[in-house]
Amino acid sequence: MGMKEYIEEAEAALLHTYNRFQIVLDKGEDVYLYDTEGKRYLDFVAGIAVFALGYHNEEYNNALKEQIDKLIHTSNYFYNEPAIRAAKKLLKVSGMDRVFFTNSGAESIEGALKAAKKYAYLKDGCTDHEIIALNHSFHGRTMGALAVTGNPHYREAFEPLIGTVKFGEMNDFTSIEALVTDKTCAIILEPVQGEGGLTPATEEFLSQVRSLCDEKDILLIFDEVQCGMGRTGYMYAWQRYGIRPDILTTAKALGCGVPVGAFLLTEKVAQASLTSGDHGTTYGGNPLALAAVDKVLELYEKNHVVEHVREVAPYLEQRLLELTEKYDCILEHRGVGLMQGLLFDRPVSPIINKAIEKGLLLINAGPNIIRFVPPLIITKEHIDTMITILQQCIEEQ
Ligand SMILES: *Cc1c(COP(=O)(O)O)cnc(C)c1O
Repeated sequence: MGMKEYIEEAEAALLHTYNRFQIVLDKGEDVYLYDTEGKRYLDFVAGIAVFALGYHNEEYNNALKEQIDKLIHTSNYFYNEPAIRAAKKLLKVSGMDRVFFTNSGAESIEGALKAAKKYAYLKDGCTDHEIIALNHSFHGRTMGALAVTGNPHYREAFEPLIGTVKFGEMNDFTSIEALVTDKTCAIILEPVQGEGGLTPATEEFLSQVRSLCDEKDILLIFDEVQCGMGRTGYMYAWQRYGIRPDILTTAKALGCGVPVGAFLLTEKVAQASLTSGDHGTTYGGNPLALAAVDKVLELYEKNHVVEHVREVAPYLEQRLLELTEKYDCILEHRGVGLMQGLLFDRPVSPIINKAIEKGLLLINAGPNIIRFVPPLIITKEHIDTMITILQQCIEEQ
């Protein structure tokens, strides 16, 4: 079947919640993807910050194949070996004390919110606690995650969601402080906002929020679903700032394509929140997903993935800043590590569509921002190729 027929069949069968690009992807190799007609694309999307190790990584693929032949699923009522290995590794690199594995980013947010609510409930026996989140945040599409997502357009049709959630501004501590009441149980934020436009928190802001939380015994939740797993040049972005959250969420690159996420807690919160019967999942933490996590974390260490990000990210930034200087239609460069963006004075979808025609995959973050979240193994040569194609697209628009 040609791509056109595939797309027609897809549009007849799938729910229309996405405006998809008009290509059908078939296979991947290194930092390239191929469509069903054999055309090659340089990938600066990585399945939205997921495929950190690049496609067709043999060691990763073999680890999955071996696990498939051994055991794919048990239940959380039993222990399994890959989960134990992966948990130990994840606690070590994240600097947290306890982990609960989920199937996705949104589910890791749900767990984090439940832990925060339970922590507050155990203190005062009440259930009317409030959460503070940030405008332009993105935490996922399930009801709880949606409730703390700072984009009214996503939430509107689904209200009421999970009780009182108030929204402050990124990097404006006064706006957060003003929302705190004696009912506030948690503050949730992305250290580097992803979907909302690649805005990093300042160290000053995070340290003020941390102090406020300490003073009032409010739990600080960092959503590192996108900015975690090495993308900022640190395994987790909190390490960049030296400001540790009470609860940390992770997903996207965690399994490098196998659906898996996690929320992690400090021992203090773990001891005083969710307990037997409070939370569960059928699939979360199953041997197949956790064999992936185990191998991903092993390969990160062996291949010095985080160090590599620190080496190439400044080059990407430099090249994007050159474009910002050169073209009036680019207003601003944003982001850190291999999580960067360009803000345009116009919608970017025509540029992105043109890039796809020329064999380069890019994605937006909001209508006017192109987001660059390539596989973490990207090289300077790939960056140069991307910049050359992007320049052509900007000039031809
Ligand atoms: C993608 C994302 C989520 C949601 O993850 P899903 O796996 O799509 O449910 C949550 N938070 C952040 C910061 C994200 O980027």
